[in-house]
Amino acid sequence: QQDWRAVHDALAERGIGTPAGLAAHLARHPGFAAQARDLVRIERANPAFAAIAGRTQDAMPTSLSGLLDAAEETFVPSLLAYAGGESFFEGETELLRADGQRVPVLFTITFPTADDGEGSVLVFVVDITERRQAQDAMLAAQAELAHAMRVATLGELTASIAHEVNQPLMAVVTNGEAGMRWLRRDTPDLHEVETAIARIIAEGRRAGEIVRRVRDFLSKAPAPQQTLSPGALLADAVELVRHEFTREGVEVRVQAEDELPWLRGDRVQLEQVLVNLMVNACQALAGWTGTRQVLLHAGRGDGGTLAIRVADTGPGIAAADLPRLFDPFYTTKPNGMGMGLAICRTTAEAHGGHLTVESTPGQGTVFLLTLAPCDAETHAE
Ligand code: ADP
Repeated sequence: QQDWRAVHDALAERGIGTPAGLAAHLARHPGFAAQARDLVRIERANPAFAAIAGRTQDAMPTSLSGLLDAAEETFVPSLLAYAGGESFFEGETELLRADGQRVPVLFTITFPTADDGEGSVLVFVVDITERRQAQDAMLAAQAELAHAMRVATLGELTASIAHEVNQPLMAVVTNGEAGMRWLRRDTPDLHEVETAIARIIAEGRRAGEIVRRVRDFLSKAPAPQQTLSPGALLADAVELVRHEFTREGVEVRVQAEDELPWLRGDRVQLEQVLVNLMVNACQALAGWTGTRQVLLHAGRGDGGTLAIRVADTGPGIAAADLPRLFDPFYTTKPNGMGMGLAICRTTAEAHGGHLTVESTPGQGTVFLLTLAPCDAETHAE
């Protein structure tokens, strides 16, 4: 229980009758806030308050200033509410305990009505230490979650790079082995060796490019945009996987309709989409006893789009598995990473396109990549 009569008199002496008047006075005399606070008498405190404030009931400070830090911020607003004739004021602050520690509290001050001559002010105080601790714990948990999400992104980045770089790395090894064989012949064929080394250099550069693009992609840097001919895109992508098809004994054919619209996009990323789809098709056909063919076909889709199909004659995919196919880390292969299709779909969408799949178990699978044509009128191949 507090007594604000001295505060009331101090305001009256200075002719302060409104919050605006008080604000103007405080602007001119900033020290008045501390003076007013000194004038708030503490009359009585119940045992619960004494416990919160870390004092005994008879050792309570006589002035409110004995309970608050000099920089305490809710006294001025409560004084403004008092000057404005408000009936109560609520706030959250910290009390100073006798041992110097601070206790977070919620409080409500009920001011006396104008006709209450006693002028005693009641203040209800609740200790919110536990609530603060819970809040702090929640903030810490949130920070931890944000960190975990960054780590997860990092994991996805690592998985993407590992996945995408695997194919050029295998090509480096294959070409290195081929080069060795040409070199170890009785009469080394230096021309073939040179070709193998040139391929190794190209694949190495490509791996470097892929790493850079994946990093840019996740850091949301805009991908370099080029105008691309669909025919050349398909032909280049097939060359990157030709060796794997030969090794597995799978036939690959490329078809591009005439006068297709050109594309705008990142050549390396779009090639990687086709490479991933073809490698998947080739792997699906590796143990297949039926026809072993992959057809890469570019044609016109709905609404003038470019439709690229990667169709295989493999085992197909069960309808129940189709919805999960594009999820990161979904794989049915013992050494699979399950990142390929997730990356392909993200890349397609980043290019304003779509990647979908249709499959008839036992008859094969068709992946359809739909891409918007570039605005420029058709280009000659
Ligand atoms: P990974 O190749 O590492 O398994 P992907 O995301 O590229 O990861 O593929 C996910 C899964 O989709 C594969 O494990 C496979 O089960 C299935 N899949 C993809 N392409 C084909 C295909 N052409 N034929 C049959 N199944 C396929």
